[in-house]
Amino acid sequence: MEGVGLLVPVLAATALVAVLGLLAALSRKRSTEDASRAYLAGVRYVLSDEPDAAIAELSRAAQLNTGTTETYFALAALMRRKGELAWAIRLGQNMLLKPQLQPEVRRRARLELALDYRRAGMQDRARETFEALVADPPAGPDALAAFRRLLEESREWARAVEIQELLLEQVGSGDDVLAHLLAEQSLAALASDPGEGRALAERATSLSPDGPHGLLALGRARLACGDAEGAREAARQAVAREPETAARGYALALDAAAPPEACARWLGELEEPLGERALPVSLTRAEALIQAGQLEDAAGVLQAAVSRTPRSVEARRALGELLLATGQLDSVRDQYREVLRRLGDPLLAFRCGSCRARFRTFDFRCPGCGAWDALSRERGTTTGEFDPLRSRA
Ligand SMILES: [Zn+2]
Repeated sequence: MEGVGLLVPVLAATALVAVLGLLAALSRKRSTEDASRAYLAGVRYVLSDEPDAAIAELSRAAQLNTGTTETYFALAALMRRKGELAWAIRLGQNMLLKPQLQPEVRRRARLELALDYRRAGMQDRARETFEALVADPPAGPDALAAFRRLLEESREWARAVEIQELLLEQVGSGDDVLAHLLAEQSLAALASDPGEGRALAERATSLSPDGPHGLLALGRARLACGDAEGAREAARQAVAREPETAARGYALALDAAAPPEACARWLGELEEPLGERALPVSLTRAEALIQAGQLEDAAGVLQAAVSRTPRSVEARRALGELLLATGQLDSVRDQYREVLRRLGDPLLAFRCGSCRARFRTFDFRCPGCGAWDALSRERGTTTGEFDPLRSRA
């Protein structure tokens, strides 16, 4: 049978766990003779490398004796650790077959099974199992958070919102995540129902008034409902709250019929008080000035950004590209050399505070681990020395 070759060493290791579990089970006065017999049979099958029979007997033992369920969970955990997900899943399925399982054991088995399905890439089965958990309350906070993450990955925002509301009831916090989910649900609803999209975005901004995600969604929703001025205002507010949304806020303002030069003005007003955090606003302002045809002003903004944040590869690259595009390369060759001096490494300017992974672009949700509001720009990002002019010569 497929997988048995890999399974043999796993079962050999399992045998020790099982024998220890058996001793524990036998020492319990309330353990019934039937359960012990089923358990013994299970261990015998484990030792003789008959996984199907072992799982059947261990399942029976687990149903007969609650003390045995711990060993059963331990066996599934061992399978999981060894990468034998299919077997961990079969153990979980078998355990759930009998209706007389104690409710808390059933919930735990369901949660582990749902997580195993998810690890195995069986998202539909994982979703079904999580739904069964939610339908058999109380599903604990861990189960609800895991279900919500699954729904986020499949972009089922409406259900994710409902699950987050259940989680909120249990733990009393999580408004910020709920606002993110509502913002996503709003953006997804806009094409088919702008009015609903606007209501969802308004709910997001009432939960988290300073949340840039909700503000951007509100801007998009206002635009879809024909309120271009309101859209431009929301774009400005989003960038004021979170400079890293400058490019998205600018794109929204342009879609809402704002002229690039007007955008460059309000971006310039936001730039001033931000200090080192102004970099993404400066880059976007330079882009607006380029689109407005004000190339000298754009170069001035980028030069100021480079001197304010000398290690910013983005500012140097943008300035270099601008100088190239405007044909100033010959006259400012030395400057260009300086601009490109550090452009070696791929630019991974954002780090997740939760999983520590690095990313090229800012996002509200970490693409690696799914944590919300975890990405931030690393200060003083260093890059390798690289001189394209010299290497070409
Ligand atoms: Zn992360």
